[in-house]
Amino acid sequence: EHNRLRGLAHFDPSTPDGKTLRLSANISSLKELEIALSSGAYGVGLFRTEFLYMDRTRFPKEEEQFEVYRSVAEKLEGGPLVIRTLDIGGDKHLDYFELPEEENPFLGYRAIRISLDRRDLFRTQLKAILRASHYGDVKVMYPLISSVEEVREANGVLREAMEELDREGKPYNRSMETGVMIELPAAVMIAELLAREVDFFSIGTNDLVQFTLAVDRMNDKISHLYEPFHPAVLRMLRITVEAGRRQGISVGVCGELAGDPAALPIWLGLNVDGLSMSSHSILQVKERLLRTQQEESKAVLQHVMASSTSAEIKRLLREFQGEVD
Ligand code: PEP
Ligand code: MG
Repeated sequence: EHNRLRGLAHFDPSTPDGKTLRLSANISSLKELEIALSSGAYGVGLFRTEFLYMDRTRFPKEEEQFEVYRSVAEKLEGGPLVIRTLDIGGDKHLDYFELPEEENPFLGYRAIRISLDRRDLFRTQLKAILRASHYGDVKVMYPLISSVEEVREANGVLREAMEELDREGKPYNRSMETGVMIELPAAVMIAELLAREVDFFSIGTNDLVQFTLAVDRMNDKISHLYEPFHPAVLRMLRITVEAGRRQGISVGVCGELAGDPAALPIWLGLNVDGLSMSSHSILQVKERLLRTQQEESKAVLQHVMASSTSAEIKRLLREFQGEVD
């Protein structure tokens, strides 16, 4: 089985009726990059930079970050590299950075909120990312965006970082693409407005499911309520993709659901541009993609969207799967 899938690494990721779906890798370490490369990933759709900040005693300097980002960009040989700015808080902590004790850490001081509060750290990271953009197809992505103001502020810090690099005479890609993660219901509801500010969306289903259903993704006691195929979640996805389409920006998905072969007809039906997933899912999803018609997926999605329960939705997807197999 493993060898059979291996053989697919160099196949074009397209449906029999010609829809290409870029399959990229989520990575959170350099070791994972090697696995991504051998899985035939179309670049890296989510580079979780937290690891660079963990297991150490102080924040990484611009130069250290730049070296890592550049080396990843170069190894991708022109393939895209989406670098997500620091996403700590919630469940992720740094030994040397004291976060406040919070009643609700997932609703608290985390991700872009920390970056916009600690501009010094944020500017350092953005400078490192910009410098790496000179060496490959690097894009930057902001996590946990909830408003247009946050995107504008973040892009403002990005401009400051550019000005500093200009003064220092260091090269970077002036038109590096910027994107936001759509992982909060608020972001979904203003997707149309956010789309005017950025070049791409990447839907983070892990947080989006958690916040749409008010189900802590780390709490075992309620894990049965954590349901990505909930009709509410699917409506969130549809609104986001349609808003991105109307504004002409690219829309991808980078949460766990992107790597679930059962969800593939949804992505094809919605007509997203790309999926980013952990490397070990790429060949499995590709294998399914090569056998799934986009036109049929659109028809299935219509039934899915007309269904009232997640059980019914999952049954429809399973039945369709049975026909494809
Ligand atoms: C997500 O929330 O779906 C996501 C991809 O980000 P993370 O899992 O790192 O929060
Ligand atoms: Mg997230």
